[in-house]
Amino acid sequence: METNASNPLLDFSGLPRFDAFRPEHVTPAIEQLIEEAAAVVAQLEAPSDNVTWDNFVVPLEEATERLGRAWGIVNHINHVADTPELRAVYNENQPKVTEFWTSLGQNEALFDKYKAIRAGADYDSLSPARKRIVENALRDFRLGGAELPADKKERFGAIQEQHAAISTRFSENVLDATNDYKLLIEDEAELAGIPDDARDAARAAAEAAGKTGYQFSLHFPSYFPILQFADNRQLRETIYRASATKASDMGTVFSEAEKWDNTQNIAQLLKLRHEEAQLLGYRNFAEVSLVPKMAESPEHVISFLEDLAVRARPFAEKDLTELRAFAKDELGIEDLQAWDVAYASEKLREQRYAFSAQEVKNYFPEPKVIEGLFKVVQTLFSVQITPDTAPVWHPDVRFYRIERDGQLVGQFYFDLYARAGKGQGAWMDDARGRRLATGGIVQTPVAYLTCNFTPPATRDGKLQPSLLTHDEVTTLFHEFGHGLHHMLTEVEELSVSGISGVEWDAVELPSQFMENFCWEWDVLQGMTAHVKTGEPLPRALYDKMLAAKNFQSGMQTLRQVEFSLIDMHLHYDFDPSSQQIVQELIDSVRRKFSIMIPPAFNRFQHSFGHIFAGGYAAGYYSYKWAEVLSADAYAAFEEALEAGGGELLAETGRRFQREVLAVGGSRPALESFTAFRGREPSIDALLRHSGMSA
Ligand SMILES: [Zn+2]
Repeated sequence: METNASNPLLDFSGLPRFDAFRPEHVTPAIEQLIEEAAAVVAQLEAPSDNVTWDNFVVPLEEATERLGRAWGIVNHINHVADTPELRAVYNENQPKVTEFWTSLGQNEALFDKYKAIRAGADYDSLSPARKRIVENALRDFRLGGAELPADKKERFGAIQEQHAAISTRFSENVLDATNDYKLLIEDEAELAGIPDDARDAARAAAEAAGKTGYQFSLHFPSYFPILQFADNRQLRETIYRASATKASDMGTVFSEAEKWDNTQNIAQLLKLRHEEAQLLGYRNFAEVSLVPKMAESPEHVISFLEDLAVRARPFAEKDLTELRAFAKDELGIEDLQAWDVAYASEKLREQRYAFSAQEVKNYFPEPKVIEGLFKVVQTLFSVQITPDTAPVWHPDVRFYRIERDGQLVGQFYFDLYARAGKGQGAWMDDARGRRLATGGIVQTPVAYLTCNFTPPATRDGKLQPSLLTHDEVTTLFHEFGHGLHHMLTEVEELSVSGISGVEWDAVELPSQFMENFCWEWDVLQGMTAHVKTGEPLPRALYDKMLAAKNFQSGMQTLRQVEFSLIDMHLHYDFDPSSQQIVQELIDSVRRKFSIMIPPAFNRFQHSFGHIFAGGYAAGYYSYKWAEVLSADAYAAFEEALEAGGGELLAETGRRFQREVLAVGGSRPALESFTAFRGREPSIDALLRHSGMSA
């Protein structure tokens, strides 16, 4: 047996020991932890007539937490410092870990124990957080089919398997159709307007295929520059048609298109979801999807979306009228078509709101931005952030601690720069969660905050700070919002502390909330300093940035609402006995809500991976939903500022901390929001922030 002295992954006494970690530690540690957790599970499965929180939930949580934390370290390193050796052990162990969690979720003996706790005499005396953990566990077992009679359980399992296979085929078809399509342009004159980098990539693709000229594909970075920039209207139409009919019955441009046609896969997926819903006792899949979410019912989501559509529509119409007039007067396009929209919009945006992204970057040196971020957080939530030390996985990684009144609240790693072996994008992940451990000791939360900014560089013998784009600044605030949700929690139960157990349509509330500060003039001034002159961001440049942000927000909002309504209706009104229903449902949503109906050949749903190959079925609305929550929460701070700031602002910060961040997943998100705001969410603030107020 490995010990924690020889294997750092088995040492849970403090922070992860990244300095001692080696790939060869992974397999022995993970195998041992799975074995230990499985042994605990086996003991807990044994019949007992006295199931309590202390003799059941506590040991189960402790055994699985150790596995979760150790695997979390492996997973993290695999994402930020990938090496062939580590990837090999990661891939070797990942199926074992997944299998363990899956079997836990289907363990009926454990389900019975949770039911026994729920029915027991002690249930009423459990804290609200513990009650919620029991309820969540029961809910997840039920949605996983654990309560079905034997014959139905078998069918439920078969549905899951078929669904997974068809869903995989759906995305493979999209990928194959995308990869198969090639558009070769030999005459460079046809490429007028397309930027050099897109042309260079197309020339390289042609060369790699042994051809001369420029080869475009249906991968976004290849085809979108054509739609956005190509002066050649015919070329835009060609690529639009290819993209809009991808993996569909209309995909005639492909050699053997029908083999990638997703028509039947879509119908099958909807049919299986409908059947699953009925097995579980629901009327439709939309109802199933919403059970673990914040939104109450499909009807509620649909009316939320329709309300947003009605409010955004006049602004969308104005956007479109402007675009049509501009296309006619300036571009000579008399009848604006679907393949002209991105092109004309780009030209209009350039003419009206052009500013240099590089010039903006000069005002955002990274140290100044971080100072500004910390200042916002320290002021609003009455905490202090100071540098701290811990073993790290790369010399660029920094470590900080958050304290309130001299008490440690949480700690976090900042891994901000792009480098080889590090995954793309930005994210927050937890190294450990807050809980009250045995012996009354509080385990404080620790977070990983990862970004991919340009590293500082030495120029003329002097180290220049990293300069951030405004998008990168926003990303940093966004991820830090997730971090605050994780670190400022005061919940003592691991499964509902911080972001754990938060409904997933509410999980983006604190992150998108933090983004708003990046558009707050007073905050921006304080966190900008021109890299050469030290001057803060000029107001005129800020105004242009804001106008560009809200450019065509009416049209964009309506488009997102249309996608969300299509997703909702496909999972709400779907009738498995009818064949034509999918396109008909989509058309009827468009007739009601679109201001520009796409061409009849458009089959965008055939590559709508979010809902057919991702986790967003009857959940696409959550993007807009979370924006509404975060904008409305932020509006409370705007109101406090308008009323003079000061103590009122401080009180609003304390209230957000207390009612939203501190409680984490320990109570329903709607309750938390309402407790903070004094009422249910309203869409007004989002419309105002997007420049859509009457
Ligand atoms: Zn996020």
